[in-house]
Amino acid sequence: METQKMYVLPKLSYDYDALAPVISENLLKLHHEKHHAAYVNGANAILQKMDKAKSENADFDTKATFKELSFHIGGHLLHSLFWENLAPKGKGGGEKPSNTIAKVIDEEFGSLDRFKKIFSQAAISAEGSGWAALTFCKKTNRPIIMQVEKHNTNVYPMFRILMVLDVWEHAYYLDYKNDRGKFVEAFWDIVNWTEVNNRLEDLLKS
Ligand code: MN
Repeated sequence: METQKMYVLPKLSYDYDALAPVISENLLKLHHEKHHAAYVNGANAILQKMDKAKSENADFDTKATFKELSFHIGGHLLHSLFWENLAPKGKGGGEKPSNTIAKVIDEEFGSLDRFKKIFSQAAISAEGSGWAALTFCKKTNRPIIMQVEKHNTNVYPMFRILMVLDVWEHAYYLDYKNDRGKFVEAFWDIVNWTEVNNRLEDLLKS
């Protein structure tokens, strides 16, 4: 197997206990080591299956395979973005946005508080398993909030994701039981606005 052509579970830039009490050590460890890892392994297993089919010059079930592949790759990439747009409180987490992201949010949503309210509502009302995402559309120069169903639908091609929030039950149930709203409220204490701003500025430069 060519490891460089496979997905790899990224290491977190903080310790498992660093996001507590917003996300407990147990929950973060489980979420990263088990759930995120399952998407990495799932995507790699499908790639290996496709490689095997190629070496045998055999057919495979394209419809089911590509659907499953997008589910696992979507899960892997969204989790990777999620970990990076979080930071421990006092170490970059939960500060006020500044620079370009602050300006863009003010222009589009009127105020940071109004943005947080709308984004939180998107997260809380995502049906079943899903994500809330802040994206940016370069065609209109507007930040756009979207709800991602599962890991792989409603992701708009070419819209760069600036910030995501995982609201699958596995993301909060251990700490918050069924109170998704409480988890979403606490999320703002660990948002890494520097990272969100960097993603936006990189996009605007490209
Ligand atoms: Mn998750």
